Amino acid sequence: MTRLVIIGGGIAGLSAAYYALIRPDNPPDEVILLEKDDRWGGKITTERVDGFVIEGGPDTFLALKPWGMALARELGLAGRLQGSNPKQKATYILHKGRLHPLPGGLTMMIPTDFGGMLRTGLISWPGKIRMGLDFLLPPAKSPGEESLGRFVSRRLGREAYEALIEPLMSGIYAGDGDQLSLQATFPYLRDLEVKHGGLVRGALAAKRARMKGNGAAPGSRSMFVTPQTGLAELVETLVARLEALGAELRLGVEVRGLEKDSHQYSVFSNRYAVLKADRIILATPAYVTAQLLRPHDPGLAALLDAIPYASTATISLAYRLADVPRPLDGYGYVIPRREGRQALACTWTSTKFPHRAPEGMVLLRVFVGRAGQEEAIDWTEEGLLDIAREELRLTLGVTAEPLLHRVFIWPRAMPQYNVGHPARVQHIMAGLARWPGLALAGNAYHGIGIPDCIHSGELAVERISNG
Ligand SMILES: Cc1cc2nc3c(=O)[nH]c(=O)nc-3n(C[C@H](O)[C@H](O)[C@H](O)COP(=O)(O)OP(=O)(O)OC[C@H]3O[C@@H](n4cnc5c(N)ncnc54)[C@H](O)[C@@H]3O)c2cc1C
Repeated sequence: MTRLVIIGGGIAGLSAAYYALIRPDNPPDEVILLEKDDRWGGKITTERVDGFVIEGGPDTFLALKPWGMALARELGLAGRLQGSNPKQKATYILHKGRLHPLPGGLTMMIPTDFGGMLRTGLISWPGKIRMGLDFLLPPAKSPGEESLGRFVSRRLGREAYEALIEPLMSGIYAGDGDQLSLQATFPYLRDLEVKHGGLVRGALAAKRARMKGNGAAPGSRSMFVTPQTGLAELVETLVARLEALGAELRLGVEVRGLEKDSHQYSVFSNRYAVLKADRIILATPAYVTAQLLRPHDPGLAALLDAIPYASTATISLAYRLADVPRPLDGYGYVIPRREGRQALACTWTSTKFPHRAPEGMVLLRVFVGRAGQEEAIDWTEEGLLDIAREELRLTLGVTAEPLLHRVFIWPRAMPQYNVGHPARVQHIMAGLARWPGLALAGNAYHGIGIPDCIHSGELAVERISNG
């Protein structure tokens, strides 16, 4: 009789439970999933209220990474996935307080349409000329592990980095591009430089390959999808499937300690004196995992604790269409760090997904908080609402009272894959050799997107099944 205990009921822990239960060979006899909150899904949470579909955390996942689509298909959700509105795809960037359309022809977020780049008001003429140097500069021989900021500035110039690339790329991590590791976040960009001699040349080659149908270049087909009633549908369907497969699902259980003897693990929590386990998967944030392992393995705990996290918040606000002076003719806008705003981005949710607001209403979602700028933010619900409303007033001219609002605060939510992250993760994985039958899953290690987290759960099951 083998018992697998999974700690953490976000998408990584839920996926681990699923892949453990459907294993054709050697599945555990018993799977118990413990979650400290009173709901499943972790960062995935959707509120459906008065005809609005409001996402508190993620709102889509990337279809190009196979693991999200694969799980959706297995759960019978493929037919319920929808892409974002193809009719109004514009994205804007804030520049000196005004919205500028993102130049067309970005491939893997790198500009490949020269006309569009020449016309954009986002970058000065000297900045555009500096971007052109990408065609002349030889690839760096062995630059070592670089930050995203250093790499892009080296190829395209600092201005293009700050005005264009930083808000698009760093925003995904709520991170600081001058700290984020290129290798851990966008490794294919360095491949473009090495293979094609330059970033734009590489992006052009990727675009040509895609147009010829020669296979998809990584990052080139940014197709994001989501279930019709929000991402919680994925969680709800997965939980129902786990119940049908016989998993034991327990909410409100905060794990506070782990012990191992030669045969088994003991799990200590607020609910049970002790729970015995033959195998363990920790699908918790790295700092929680560190806390659980520290008494027995301070070295491993120190490595886990060294992964920094950024806090973030989303504020969704509903208005009458007539209360928004500017046409919401796109998916929204991103805000470069150098604009000095507390907001990071604003999604025009009801344009991106038209059915997510009733007729005549609009739904907007403001993101607040990014690495290195968190101290200046008032993290109370009222403080965040004020920041969001001020952002909408300044940029869109919205002064009306919102019809409804929802604030979701995510303390220490976004792991920062800073320079040094790949080596640290390698050491963490090597340190697990001291913990037979135990594996880690979740967004702290090999990818923060939902498909990566699903994959991490699957790989954790592989590890405990083979070790
Ligand atoms: C605002 C926001 C927007 C995002 N947007 C996108 C997006 O559009 N697309 C995308 O792909 N990704 C997006 N992400 C990233 C993605 O949502 C996350 O990386 C992913 O959901 C994390 O899943 P996880 O299972 O690793 O962790 P979590 O969801 O954090 O789950 C960990 C779980 O462990 C539980 N736990 C912690 N400690 C204990 C304990 N001691 N005992 C028991 N349980 C415990 C927690 O309560 C939590 O439920 C976004 C993230 C945020 C915050």
